[in-house]
Amino acid sequence: MTDQTSVGQSTLSIWGGEQEHELYERSTQVPVVHSVSFTYKDIDTWHDVALEKAPGHIYSRNTNPTVRAFEDKLKELESAEAATSFASGMAAISNVLGAFLKPGDRIVSIKDSYGGTNKIFNNFLPPLNIDVCLCETTDYAQIEDEIDKGCQLLYLETPTNPTIKIIDIKRLAAAAKKVGALVVVDNTFATPINQNPLQLGADIVLHSASKYLGGHADALGGVICGSLALIKQVYHYREINGATLSPMDAYSFIRGMKTLKLRVERQNQNAMAVARWLQSHPQIEQVNYPGLESHPNHDIASQQMRGYGGMLSFSVKGGLDAIKIFLPKLKYAHMAANLGCVETVVGPPLTTSHVECSAEERAAAGIPEGLVRYSAGIEDIEDLITDLEQALSYL
Ligand SMILES: *Cc1c(COP(=O)(O)O)cnc(C)c1O
Repeated sequence: MTDQTSVGQSTLSIWGGEQEHELYERSTQVPVVHSVSFTYKDIDTWHDVALEKAPGHIYSRNTNPTVRAFEDKLKELESAEAATSFASGMAAISNVLGAFLKPGDRIVSIKDSYGGTNKIFNNFLPPLNIDVCLCETTDYAQIEDEIDKGCQLLYLETPTNPTIKIIDIKRLAAAAKKVGALVVVDNTFATPINQNPLQLGADIVLHSASKYLGGHADALGGVICGSLALIKQVYHYREINGATLSPMDAYSFIRGMKTLKLRVERQNQNAMAVARWLQSHPQIEQVNYPGLESHPNHDIASQQMRGYGGMLSFSVKGGLDAIKIFLPKLKYAHMAANLGCVETVVGPPLTTSHVECSAEERAAAGIPEGLVRYSAGIEDIEDLITDLEQALSYL
């Protein structure tokens, strides 16, 4: 493993996970191994590999060399003992919950989690007799109270989607440890460049790799990191249930991650500049960005994050009707459901994070219908601001 204490994040995102692999025919890049299975000349070696007593691969639903290189790269960036990957971010989330929870268990989480995660909490876990307690996102008294009542798992996400709230991971992880609960943190919005939850007390950190890790909106996947014992447990669940990451998508992630730090630093800068500019625009009601001093969780964001991230949201005067006019006028932004890629992406929660919810549910979650989620790309900042200015002039 690359020495994580002396090597920077950009070096790790380029070289991490690549040096321990035998490169095919002296290629400098990790090859895409499409093979479903791996062949052995003798039964004893085959058996040893199958029992994980010798290195190697058996069947690509379990492990695959390209997929392994991606997992190792992320493991190094999150300074973890182990990592395993999945066909999507939602597969990572559902496999973590499936591997650790059983009927009669109780999970404590927050109301502002990703829309899909929220669906699992509200619709899929209760019929399995798993009690889900969703707290007000930054109400520490309520969250700590519910943790103290006893739970097997504390599930957090910070920054949240699409309201961009920040939660104190260290404080809540400490509370969860007291009752012996496992702490899981969705780190998709922050990326390992801006935040490392394992160092703040989390047991499992997870990512939708489809967002910032890949960075080019052309591959779907998920990944989790943690201790070897915990990751093995989820790996076993996934290898049997089969939500495996494909080698081609793993390759896209490996290539995308070589520029992870460059991209994220630029996105941090662009998001900050856009947030500041929007804040003083007369058509804008409110801007949610943790880098702004006015953000209610600015202090905790400054403590636990190295950068404030590329995601912000803002509400426009005139609500949904106004954003229906203004968003299509943007030249340098896709109106789309994804985020974290090199292009700027915009959309309302209505068609993105909270498409699964009714208008009433969105209102109950404190999400105005006129909110815009803005994922800053790596374009030139002057162009992003000029673009926003001309689009807002139609209001
Ligand atoms: C997109 C996203 C997910 C789900 O990931 P997929 O790869 O789309 O399945 C989970 N959490 C967060 C915060 C996300 O943004």
